[in-house]
Amino acid sequence: MMAQDNPIVFFNDRFVPLSEAKISILTHALHYGTGVFEGIRGYWSEKRKQMLLFRAADHFRRWKLNCGLLHMDLAHTESELCDITEELVRRNDFCTDIYIRPIAYRSSPRVGVRPDDQYAIAIIGIPFGPYLSSASGIHACVSTWRRVEDNAIPARGKICGAYVNSALATDEAHRNGFDEAIFLNEAGHVVEGATCNLFLVKQGKLITPPASDNILEGITRDTVMQLAARELRMETIERSIDRSELYQCEEAFFTGTAVEIAPITRIDHHPVGLGVVGPISSQLRSVYDSVVRGWREQYDHWLEPVLTPALDRS
Ligand code: PMP
Repeated sequence: MMAQDNPIVFFNDRFVPLSEAKISILTHALHYGTGVFEGIRGYWSEKRKQMLLFRAADHFRRWKLNCGLLHMDLAHTESELCDITEELVRRNDFCTDIYIRPIAYRSSPRVGVRPDDQYAIAIIGIPFGPYLSSASGIHACVSTWRRVEDNAIPARGKICGAYVNSALATDEAHRNGFDEAIFLNEAGHVVEGATCNLFLVKQGKLITPPASDNILEGITRDTVMQLAARELRMETIERSIDRSELYQCEEAFFTGTAVEIAPITRIDHHPVGLGVVGPISSQLRSVYDSVVRGWREQYDHWLEPVLTPALDRS
């Protein structure tokens, strides 16, 4: 088995090969969705011979907060979690872009939905390229599935069970020939993609749904708002968005750790703007890429560099 297929993972407080990280078929989280996860990207810098983890501390802060929704009080601090992740990267000696998946889950092997106080965490890292092939724009559709409401399963919580909602919408979109789904909430407002946040450009302004419209408050969303303000001098308006605005905007794009910035060129068979990647989406894409890859020093505070054994390779 290649190391790539059997990476070292952090499991039950130890570093073990993925093939040894086993859980019971009765695990509570498997049956009832009682887990909380995160997704963090690491960008390999050939120039620095370093892995650059993007906003890892912010992801771990969000993870700990979200675990609190399920009354899982993670014992590790954010900085300990960053240290564990750095060690994970070193042990795997990754020298390519990666994706880190932390997960906390109700681990009791028993039947019965009421959770007890047992939980476990795992952190997995895998080599990871682009998630959506989006350079020339993607085709999105409004899903027939509605976004989970905050008082059903909080979308901001990145709760495993809530991703059935995303899986249903993604599956429907793909079966119908689209690349990604866009959710409306029960009030009929546009909220986000199945695995990403959404921005529109209208009359030269960025618009994105507010945190209170059942979205996951994305770290990429926050990054894009900050970069747009500083680099493009564009403010973002956070307000509810009507479905018909999707068909009349100048540009639209998704944001997320995995999707990064993915321009949308068609929605429900309507061209977005001119039906090609617009200038603001493409500027933001290139600024974002240069920031995450460590080419703009003023944003280095967002990067957690990992010194790997790869240093010796130069
Ligand atoms: N919305 C959903 C439903 C997601 O799963 C994600 C991916 N984590 C996002 C938005 C984007 O969040 P982030 O930018 O923090 O990755």
